Amino acid sequence: CNSTVGFIGLGNMGRHMARNLIKKGFNIVAFDMNKNAAESLCGEERVVIASSIAELSSKVDSLVTMLPDNDSVMQVYSRDDGIIKNAKKGATLIDSSTVDPKVPQTIGPLAEKQGFVFFDAPVSGGVMAAENAQLTFMVGGLENEFRRLDKILTAMGKKSFYCGKYGSGQAAKICNNMILGISMGAVSEGLNLGVRFGLDPKLLTDVINSSSGRCWTSEVYNPVPGILENAPSSKDYQGGFASKLLKKDLSLAVELANRTCSSVPLGNKAFQIYEQICKSQYADRDFSIIYKFLNESKGK
Ligand code: NAD
Repeated sequence: CNSTVGFIGLGNMGRHMARNLIKKGFNIVAFDMNKNAAESLCGEERVVIASSIAELSSKVDSLVTMLPDNDSVMQVYSRDDGIIKNAKKGATLIDSSTVDPKVPQTIGPLAEKQGFVFFDAPVSGGVMAAENAQLTFMVGGLENEFRRLDKILTAMGKKSFYCGKYGSGQAAKICNNMILGISMGAVSEGLNLGVRFGLDPKLLTDVINSSSGRCWTSEVYNPVPGILENAPSSKDYQGGFASKLLKKDLSLAVELANRTCSSVPLGNKAFQIYEQICKSQYADRDFSIIYKFLNESKGK
């Protein structure tokens, strides 16, 4: 495959996703406002680092953005030196960041008017899945154009779901991450309770993973250091999925719940706890640090 894909946002997730596109034969034009992040791809074959978003946009037929939040996505797409003003006619624009559904609901029609095809395509799976091309994509946008994403998404993930019109991919992602935040809290509370009683966390994990408490956070992303060698908890909670990003996703869930008059008491509680974590020194550490946070908050 000789086609060229633009990639904007080479952080914890984006750099692995871009590398998987390279492995599958795509040429990459990459940009990140942080030079160190952009340089993480230097030395790879078939990579050009662009000096601006405008330059990148003018060189590619398809591009992926993997940015932190609403503001960064709105800016990168809509400012004068951004994607919409500078992309090639007919380009495919894929935003894989997690943002409020209002963002793709704004950008989608704007892009359509200018002759582009835009999708919200957030991902689930975490950094390890990004590295192993095992992500799940949840896609919103024009259904009759969905198939044009096949080659790009299969290079980075194992599955993609068409969820509906603009914003539907983000809505699915926000529901998933609200469950993720609640379940990481639940597993961390259970493990911390057991450890304080005197149980061995490895034994307790084995018990849970053979019992009804088993879930992704206990099995694949365990929050106790030393249980899973490759999980962020075993790397001093570095890398992975920052607590401040999960807090953002939980706040998106609470907002979506307000907009749709849905009751989310557990989602609200998880949001409050991650708000507290982000006021501590742990905001940039992986979200499984909630285990350590609970362990250090005696009896509260
Ligand atoms: P990150 O903070 O590690 O990476 C974001 C990158 O975007 C950084 O390198 C930053 O320099 C760059 N950036 C920010 N603003 C920019 C701009 N205006 N122009 C160019 N570059 C800019 O974040 P991440 O963990 O890679 O997550 C990216 C997105 O994916 C977030 O929306 C997050 O919620 C979502 N997500 C993360 C995970 C995870 O496990 N880390 C999993 C699923 C989804």
